[in-house]
Amino acid sequence: MLNISHLTHTYGTGAKAHLALKDITFEVRSGELVSIVGPSGCGKTTLLRTMAGLMPPTGGRVEFLGEPIVGVPEGLAMVFQDYRGSLFPWLSVEANVRFPLKHLGLSSSETASRVLESLAAVGLTGFENRYPSQLSGGMQQRVAIARALAYRPKILLMDEPFASIDAQTREDLEDLVLQVKRRFDMTILFVTHDIDESVYLADRVVVLSKPPTEVLTTIDIPLPAERDQITTKENPDFIRVRGEVARLIRHPAGEEVAA
Ligand code: ADP
Ligand code: MG
Repeated sequence: MLNISHLTHTYGTGAKAHLALKDITFEVRSGELVSIVGPSGCGKTTLLRTMAGLMPPTGGRVEFLGEPIVGVPEGLAMVFQDYRGSLFPWLSVEANVRFPLKHLGLSSSETASRVLESLAAVGLTGFENRYPSQLSGGMQQRVAIARALAYRPKILLMDEPFASIDAQTREDLEDLVLQVKRRFDMTILFVTHDIDESVYLADRVVVLSKPPTEVLTTIDIPLPAERDQITTKENPDFIRVRGEVARLIRHPAGEEVAA
């Protein structure tokens, strides 16, 4: 579905040039949840922006459904880290979720049923007429997820969507992502700096290095599809893989570890 091949990105030119992404290759197949984990500042947002067609990379290829990405592709939705900036404050919850459907040419009954179904899927039935400022951060992020679901994207890109949300709510939202993935049979690319979150959610984890950023490894997650915040995190495979990822990020091969 999504093919990233030898992607590089440099910000600025000359003496001020900063190589944000050195060499990134991976793919996302239909129906998978792939997570990308890497330290802050390693270029995760840069990577997603190139995939969302918001910015052309300075090198390499990004293809969505076999076509190079030029401009924002149809069939792709994104949930951002900063929920405060991602909803329209002057629109109700219902109007925020309905907003991106405008140009799809749906009937008004189809539009209404998609909006209600998506809000129900994120547990916000009854909150249609509230405004973003009347909701907690976690609820605002649920609205952003509902808005993406209503659009029925072929792929959903999520950029550290729960990074500024308290731990308890965050676990609920992680489980919500797994639920909607199953229910709507979605393909998701989930970016995070949180190692536990990356392993808990994913079918596959792409581990990024510190800058200059490359893919250190890609790991198939050997956990059953059904996950649970308590038992999955006690599973020896979960513990082993999260340790492997942590070690890679902290001490990549070839880097001296101080004695
Ligand atoms: P992450 O999302 O992994 O924290 P980013 O993709 O936001 O990382 O940033 C990667 C690097 O690129 C950082 O060093 C950041 O300062 C730099 N960077 C990001 N956006 C720009 C920009 N518009 N101009 C110049 N440098 C940028
Ligand atoms: Mg970022």
